[in-house]
Amino acid sequence: MASLSLRHIYKVYSGGVRAVSDFNLEIDDKEFIVFVGPSGCGKSTTLRMIAGLEDISSGELYIDDRLVNDVEPKDRDIAMVFQNYALYPHMTVYDNMAFGLRLRHVPAKVIDEKVQEAASILGIQHLLSRRPKALSGGQRQRVALGRAIVREPKVFLLDEPLSNLDAKLRVQMRTEITKIHHRLATTFIYVTHDQTEAMTMGTRIVVMKDGIVQQVDTPTTLYDNPANLFVACFLGSPQMNIFKAKLIEENGNIYALIGETNKVMIPKSRAQRILDKSIVGSDVLLGIRPEDVRYEQALIDAHPESVIESTVDVIENLGNETILYLNVEGKEDYTIARVNARYSFEQGETLKMYLATEHAHLFDATTELTLMGVPDYNLIPAQAVAVENTLAIMFGDVCVKLPEGLLNRITDKSIINNKVTLGIPPTALKAEGTEGDVCIEGVAEFFDNYPRFKAVYMSVPGLANNVIMSRPLDYEFIGGESLKVYLDPSQIQLFNIDGERIISDRVVTGNTTTGTALNVNGVYNYKFAAANGGKNKLSIENQDGLKTAENETPMYILPRGLAIDKESLAQTPKMVLSGIIKNLDEYHKDAIVTAEVAGFDDDMTVIIRNFSGYNNGDKIKMVVNPHAIMFGKYETFAEAVKKQESQEEGEVRYKELTQAREKEKAIEEASATVDQKIAVE
Ligand code: ADP
Repeated sequence: MASLSLRHIYKVYSGGVRAVSDFNLEIDDKEFIVFVGPSGCGKSTTLRMIAGLEDISSGELYIDDRLVNDVEPKDRDIAMVFQNYALYPHMTVYDNMAFGLRLRHVPAKVIDEKVQEAASILGIQHLLSRRPKALSGGQRQRVALGRAIVREPKVFLLDEPLSNLDAKLRVQMRTEITKIHHRLATTFIYVTHDQTEAMTMGTRIVVMKDGIVQQVDTPTTLYDNPANLFVACFLGSPQMNIFKAKLIEENGNIYALIGETNKVMIPKSRAQRILDKSIVGSDVLLGIRPEDVRYEQALIDAHPESVIESTVDVIENLGNETILYLNVEGKEDYTIARVNARYSFEQGETLKMYLATEHAHLFDATTELTLMGVPDYNLIPAQAVAVENTLAIMFGDVCVKLPEGLLNRITDKSIINNKVTLGIPPTALKAEGTEGDVCIEGVAEFFDNYPRFKAVYMSVPGLANNVIMSRPLDYEFIGGESLKVYLDPSQIQLFNIDGERIISDRVVTGNTTTGTALNVNGVYNYKFAAANGGKNKLSIENQDGLKTAENETPMYILPRGLAIDKESLAQTPKMVLSGIIKNLDEYHKDAIVTAEVAGFDDDMTVIIRNFSGYNNGDKIKMVVNPHAIMFGKYETFAEAVKKQESQEEGEVRYKELTQAREKEKAIEEASATVDQKIAVE
């Protein structure tokens, strides 16, 4: 019995293949965890790192609170079962199972008890005297399992154990392994590329792609609430239908327009789960599972607002169900429906189909992330105002004053007295506050149950979108109740207008240096003063207003002024700095990178979009945008906020914002009174 904790685990093979990136997972005792994903996504590598067969490049692996990164595989109390069972051909089944215990000098009597017990669990008592070649594939796989069971390990690791078996046997062994898991009551970690195995066996599934965990949850939650298009399409067979659609609002209802002719309503119960209402009016991806494409006349009559026209192209009758491949105007590939096999269809027939949009999924057309569900952050449009010697983030009636420690981790000074997006993790909104917390008031609207928490949606005055918070499963939800929730300001995240995350997990020291800039025919050669600065040189062209600085001049580079893409590196080879990555702070495709760069006073902080392929300790080449080079003394974020001009401007902004909010409130109250009157009449 064991729990496991995988913390920021990376695997980079020699040659630079990053097979696993930032893998984080807490595995409870007795769980059956399945790693699933297409071939090459890093499942086996992760499993082999847990087994100790592969070094962990960075990160920490704990088994039962013991750090085991450097513990030998044999001392980890783990048993691994492979796809090729690797039985010893010259030994009997009994000896194959007893072998490991004999190596450990376990007394023969104990070995015999264990082998007999494992054989009875697996139903192979009658095979104990046979050699592996006299066994079927399924029987051999059982022996391989038996060999693991007799060792009574804390954790079972199974790497595609069924993929050599034929389809029927695979289904049978699937249930057997599940039964063995119940019987042994230990932790199982199981690798497969087969989504059916994942769905049927796992208590929780880890979906991986390109070495990155996409989502971790129970099979039903993944199926019903996929976090992105990849998870949505990977689980479920036939896979989810994805329609390119445009969301519109008509008479207070949300519709999805598909092509020129089809229009379906997203019922209110579903539409209210859209995280950001401003997506209405935009193109999205609408996902409908094949079982939610319905032909029944009664459903079509009951939901005329969610019916599309289709033509039947291919009919696959599987006996228990029929799969229809339909052509729908506005969708390039087939729309697939899973329907009752007793009903007959004809090729070429036109059919009205009801899309059960109460189960619709919506994804962002660009990021492919879900537009529903529980986000990493509640993203709230806000204003960053310099007041009281700090930065206050204001939205609705709420004002979050940032603690001093946070100020100098912000990478972008342009947000001061400007717009910003506030990110609040759903877990950061607490029912009880402590000193320094900010109170947010709102009204409980509705909730969704997830396996490990309850997502509560709260409307907040002055905000267009609901704010989502996570609560324990036994939380008593009362719709319409006034809520007060508390936020610890140190838990927030900020995003700039371009959606870049701008709080680094380290203090930004300013990318500062000193040096001389000599003008040679309009090109400024910057020489670093630092002793090691010779390793990096910059030749700056076309910099308006740049003067020759023969004396040593301070310089700094804005964090957003560096890029790592191949084209930029090739285009301006004389503006390239080399460094070593000290810290990576990644979020989706972007990263805040801290790097040691020769010639600079301290580690540089750099924001890089579409970041991938690097690990801590790697060398990195970065090309500098000349417009991001600033001559003069660097001013920290805290200094910039506390400057008199910022504070004076902030005061004005603060007044404007509070007055505008007062007006808004007066209008809200007036319309509420009208609503009440109408309701009374
Ligand atoms: P999966 O089990 O999901 O099919 P793997 O974990 O086996 O994937 O592989 C993940 C990635 O690491 C793949 O790109 C694979 O080519 C690469 N890889 C696996 N083993 C090695 C190795 N020994 N050296 C270099 N690259 C490897």
